Amino acid sequence: MQGQPEQVDVAVLGAGIVGVSAAFAARQRGFSTVLIDRRELGSETSYGNAGVLSSGSILPLNKPSLWRALPGYLGNTSAALRFNPSWVIRNADWVARFLANAAPSKVQPRAKALHGLIGASLKLHREWIVKADAGTRIRETGWLKVWRSEAVETARQEQAFLASFGIRSDLLDRQAISALEPNIVPVYKTGLLHTQTASVDSPGAVVKAYARMFAESGGEVRRSEISAIEPLADGWRIVLGDGAISARHVVVALGPWSADLLRPLGYRTPLAFERGYHQEFAPNPARALQRPIHDAEGGFLMTPMENGIRVTSGVELTDRDAPSSFAQLDMVVPMARGVVEFGAPVGEPWRGARPTLPDSLPMIGPAPRHAGLWLAFGNQHIGFTTGPATGEAIAAMIKGEKPSFEVSAFAPERYI
Ligand SMILES: Cc1cc2nc3c(=O)[nH]c(=O)nc-3n(C[C@H](O)[C@H](O)[C@H](O)COP(=O)(O)OP(=O)(O)OC[C@H]3O[C@@H](n4cnc5c(N)ncnc54)[C@H](O)[C@@H]3O)c2cc1C
Repeated sequence: MQGQPEQVDVAVLGAGIVGVSAAFAARQRGFSTVLIDRRELGSETSYGNAGVLSSGSILPLNKPSLWRALPGYLGNTSAALRFNPSWVIRNADWVARFLANAAPSKVQPRAKALHGLIGASLKLHREWIVKADAGTRIRETGWLKVWRSEAVETARQEQAFLASFGIRSDLLDRQAISALEPNIVPVYKTGLLHTQTASVDSPGAVVKAYARMFAESGGEVRRSEISAIEPLADGWRIVLGDGAISARHVVVALGPWSADLLRPLGYRTPLAFERGYHQEFAPNPARALQRPIHDAEGGFLMTPMENGIRVTSGVELTDRDAPSSFAQLDMVVPMARGVVEFGAPVGEPWRGARPTLPDSLPMIGPAPRHAGLWLAFGNQHIGFTTGPATGEAIAAMIKGEKPSFEVSAFAPERYI
């Protein structure tokens, strides 16, 4: 590259839902902004998720019931959670910290923090999706969690917990489930409809629509590998596969890849990967689903998407780039077929990695030892939901504004 590198106010690294949101929010505040990704926008984790915009996911996987469920996971045959024993041994410290966060005393503070983040984010999603001309992609039909067993007490407890945060849900019996979803086989005895939850029919398309909005507002999109970020006297140099950019502020929104570029700067981020899979199937129009359905005991989700019914699997704890293992997907697809009629697979099975820190809260804020370096990652199972507010909070902080929700629980210095 000839001459001086391009110079901007804000460089956002990673164009998943978090990065696109941060970039758009930065442009809205008048910053010259470049959004950089090596791949097509929104084509990694933010593409393959279940598309649930979840109002009620305020209790992460590491909650007190994880301890009770643990013996059932140890045989490594569950559809909901599997692990690579060698990964667990090598990451014993992360596992211990993750499990310690499942203690009852850790429930309220984390739920409160996530509730604030989720509330702010759902508000933005509902506003942005219309603004981005993608309003037809959002469904306000809720999210249905269902149990095959008589689990009324479990559902009631969950309902009461959500209600203590003002989150509404309806408790359903078999008949009420059939009334809501007439096209599923009545295998579920109990259901909880999260009425304030929405969903989209193509998460990847929604990210692209937000990115279009960013570009139309004067933002620049650059497709390139990012190989390093280097501090300068008054900002940052971002080393790209095809040149370099200098920026006063740099936002790391690289999802499951976020720790990689931070390591050379001395930050050892305890980011792990809750991998998950999906397979889409041709829908039978006469057997349509109205909303995402979460089979709690089966350990899978079925979401009606633009291209068919997307069946998503549970959690696989292993190295981010380890070869795929389709065992969980193979286990749940026949179960899903037993619930709703669908046709042949559409496309190949997809694999992604939910980026997760030991307390299951994302990092949202400034890096502790470098001015102008902002961290926005670790959004675990709810990153598609929480991306907009994560990005917006970062842009607000760069501008010196107070974010619209309480961010102290997400401060990066709790780990680095
Ligand atoms: C099976 C599954 C189901 C899920 N279901 C839901 C759901 O229903 N609802 C919900 O809210 N969340 C869900 N999630 C979680 C959600 O998908 C993630 O939390 C979220 O997408 C993370 O977004 P992100 O922007 O942080 O990361 P990503 O979308 O992965 O974006 C990171 C970007 O960084 C880029 N990148 C990385 N390294 C480099 C580099 N060196 N140079 C250039 N570019 C780079 C990548 O190409 C990528 O585009 C699910 C996840 C999985 C796996």
